[in-house]
Amino acid sequence: MSASTVRVICTTLLIEKSPQALPLGAACISSAVKNYQPLKDLIEVSLKAFCLEDKDFPKDTNTAAEYIAQKLIETAGRNGNDGSGGQTGFAIFCFSCFVWNVVIMEAASKILREKGFVCIAGGPEITAHPSFYKGFDYTVSGEGEITVPSLIQKILQSEKSDKVIISKSPDLSLIYSPYLDGIIDPSEYEGALWELARGCPFKCAYCYESKGEKTVRLFPMERIKAELELFARKKVPQVFVLDPTYNVNKKRAVELLRLIAAKTPNTFYYFEARAEFIDRELAREFTRIPCALQIGLQSANEEVLKLVNRPWDKKKFIRGIGVLNEEGVTFGLDLIYGLPGESFGTFREGVDFAVSMLPNNLEIFCLSVLPGTELGDRASALGLEYESQPPYHVIKTKQLSKDDMERARKLAAACSYFYNAGRAVTWFNSVCRVLKIKPSKFFEIFYQKNSEICEAACDCQCNHTDIEKVQLNFLKGLFNERGLGKYLKALEDIVKFYGAISRTTDTGKSETLLLNYNADYVASDYASDIRYFCENVKPQKCKIQTFMNKGGADFKYIK
Ligand code: SF4
Repeated sequence: MSASTVRVICTTLLIEKSPQALPLGAACISSAVKNYQPLKDLIEVSLKAFCLEDKDFPKDTNTAAEYIAQKLIETAGRNGNDGSGGQTGFAIFCFSCFVWNVVIMEAASKILREKGFVCIAGGPEITAHPSFYKGFDYTVSGEGEITVPSLIQKILQSEKSDKVIISKSPDLSLIYSPYLDGIIDPSEYEGALWELARGCPFKCAYCYESKGEKTVRLFPMERIKAELELFARKKVPQVFVLDPTYNVNKKRAVELLRLIAAKTPNTFYYFEARAEFIDRELAREFTRIPCALQIGLQSANEEVLKLVNRPWDKKKFIRGIGVLNEEGVTFGLDLIYGLPGESFGTFREGVDFAVSMLPNNLEIFCLSVLPGTELGDRASALGLEYESQPPYHVIKTKQLSKDDMERARKLAAACSYFYNAGRAVTWFNSVCRVLKIKPSKFFEIFYQKNSEICEAACDCQCNHTDIEKVQLNFLKGLFNERGLGKYLKALEDIVKFYGAISRTTDTGKSETLLLNYNADYVASDYASDIRYFCENVKPQKCKIQTFMNKGGADFKYIK
């Protein structure tokens, strides 16, 4: 590093260490700055990401800000402005700000500015309200690939610039890929976030896109192919596709799925999809690669969805989900509580409807009223009370009291533990039918009896064998309480069998099980109706071992 070059450090604070939290925004800006011809030979760019989960990352905001500022100074290898007017001590920091990190980022920026450094901020939180954050020298709203490099050029040439800059959207065929550019190595993150398009044709009121351009811009196919080849070379294990409208253009979606199957057949892909646009041909293409779809339902009440500009065609939705289930495509659903017009009753109906669709996982989030979104503008008219600081969670609505919001949160925690982490999709609806209770009621009862476990649990950290023990213990108590003890032997077999199969799928490790019933019946469709199973299948003890074969996890009888 030459002493006369100016260091430009693109930085962000990640919420967790996972490929989903990879610092893509900061990496895109690094790439754009690095490749901007007028700055060649004048600057050196690097990317420095922090993570809330880092062992030594401080817990309180002020110490965290000091920590970030100090580390950035060390990375820059500069001491700040030496007061001589020269730029030997000079560096520029570009902060990528999200709702969860903006307070710390702004505090770090203030420390750096006091030492004579220049701080630029961008990212979704700044895009939403660029004039609000005064702790940076410059704020850039929108995509920064054109604006930030030219702003840096102006700063270096001591030219005047607006403090708040609204970016123009770049032509996606002209911007550089941070993966192909070597700015970010997906192997380090054990996965990649993969941008296929920018923009969204929909206008959900709670989303930053609600005020964005309605046009969708696509990344060119040559870049997509080159990135896929890089993922193949690096043996990237998983890729999260960033395209909220992936399957709206079916022709392109099919073309890309075929390309993925050809180039990275062993990589696991996560897509966001719209159920209404799924047909059999597309569903079959999804089955040709290892993948899972996440589908935003948000509410199952049409009036509620209309209030947030998310018109919903229930029939088409059910048809699309039906095709996914018939073709064996793994998918999850999302719901939101705290939406305007949603009562606790309609929220529960949404949970019951969602579970009836047999999602592999059901993610239930609290609504965030993000400043700068259409919902942010309409919040008071709609009677939404929400936190004044990030993450701007709804506190209460006209229809949901604070107590209702707390009930919804607890229900979400129970669903996350029992259904998602407990991998209960195969047998959960059948259990509810035997108990004659709705899924939402089941989750509430589970929370009442296991509140500590639900509060402490996190999907990714729980050991499934331990969860299974909690599930069986709870089910045993509930079935006995309700005089349904005669179903327990079959239920125990079904829970244990599908649990072991899912763990073998995950780890490749065999497990041995003693069952009360013949395993062929436990593995059959009979198991989806516990009452019918018990009435028609005779107990027959057996011992089995699970194992992995080419088609996935299977089992064999052993002595
Ligand atoms: S929530 Fe998704 S579908 Fe709705 S506007 Fe935002 S990006 Fe588009």
